[in-house]
Amino acid sequence: MKNKDEMRIEQDIVTPLLAWYDKSKRILPWRENKEPYGIWVSEIMLQQTRVEAVKPYFDRFMRELPCISLLAEAKEERLLKLWEGLGYYNRVRNMQKAAQIIMDEYGGSFPKEYELLLKLPGIGSYTAGAIASISFGKREPAVDGNVLRILSRLMLYEEDILSQKAKSEVRNSLIPLMPKERSGDFNQALMELGATVCVPNGAPHCEACPWKEMCLANKEDKWKEYPKKAAKKPRKTEQKTVLIIGDGERILLHKRPSKGLLAGMYELPSLEGYVHEDVIIAKVREMGFSPLRIQQVEEAKHIFTHKEWHMKGYRILTEPFDFASGERAILKSGYVMVSKEETKKAYPIPSAFGAFTEYLDIRPGIGKKVSR
Ligand code: SF4
Repeated sequence: MKNKDEMRIEQDIVTPLLAWYDKSKRILPWRENKEPYGIWVSEIMLQQTRVEAVKPYFDRFMRELPCISLLAEAKEERLLKLWEGLGYYNRVRNMQKAAQIIMDEYGGSFPKEYELLLKLPGIGSYTAGAIASISFGKREPAVDGNVLRILSRLMLYEEDILSQKAKSEVRNSLIPLMPKERSGDFNQALMELGATVCVPNGAPHCEACPWKEMCLANKEDKWKEYPKKAAKKPRKTEQKTVLIIGDGERILLHKRPSKGLLAGMYELPSLEGYVHEDVIIAKVREMGFSPLRIQQVEEAKHIFTHKEWHMKGYRILTEPFDFASGERAILKSGYVMVSKEETKKAYPIPSAFGAFTEYLDIRPGIGKKVSR
């Protein structure tokens, strides 16, 4: 028997939300079943990336690595290639570590408990809550920015929603609201509401919201003031000169260190700051190449979480790469010389350099001659 409070919660909060979800939810590939593997892959991909952009990545990933054991055994470069364009590559590295732990310690099946999920690499409170509730029916909230925004507007919540305190308070306030039989749908309904109705940019569509009657932000017309967020530190800006060095057959790539930003990815070599063409030419010679022509291409900007790269690109045609000469030395320090085709198949270039990949075709005659 439900007590009075439980009945009120069900009537005012749960029933309208689930009814709205049943009617309005989008058809998404990861909602086709509740298998934890697919839920996990989709939730990790959806961090920092829009639903529409994730769909083709999700389909390809599930086609190529349809189960935990294949993910656990996949070669790193194959994984990075499948993730190319999604960014934040540590996400897929952590997925592989988690898959290996699931194979070794849980016999290849996901643990069902929230606390055990939380211990796996790359699985935070949100993802653990999503898997535990959607796949295993546990009453565990999945609190992300969408949920924080909705709850903050609903209650005119004054706390900075980026704070840990807000996350814990919102999580604790959701647990008693979650229906035992449809806890996964309750979480997904909130995610959907945040993505399609109580949207992050622009005015929320309150007229379509199942909670419009009780929402304080709606009643008092205060949605613009919520959620409260402490001012963010401005991002650091770094200037770079990006070098597309090639001999007409192959181009030079550099493998980034195995830790840190874009770890293990193949990047176009670059110099710190915006430098003059003479400095570029001297640097290319220092690397052991003979530059013939140079051409400035476009400028580009890439935004990471905490920093921005502002980049100027240059295409440099060199004498044919000669593996027997000094160029061999450079190959020992993380550089590779590869064809344009190989960059598509085996050498994942981070999307930070996306603006320059159309210039990888380096043909004789580009740009101006370099004087000897
Ligand atoms: S009524 Fe409007 S502001 Fe309130 S939760 Fe719904 S969409 Fe958001």
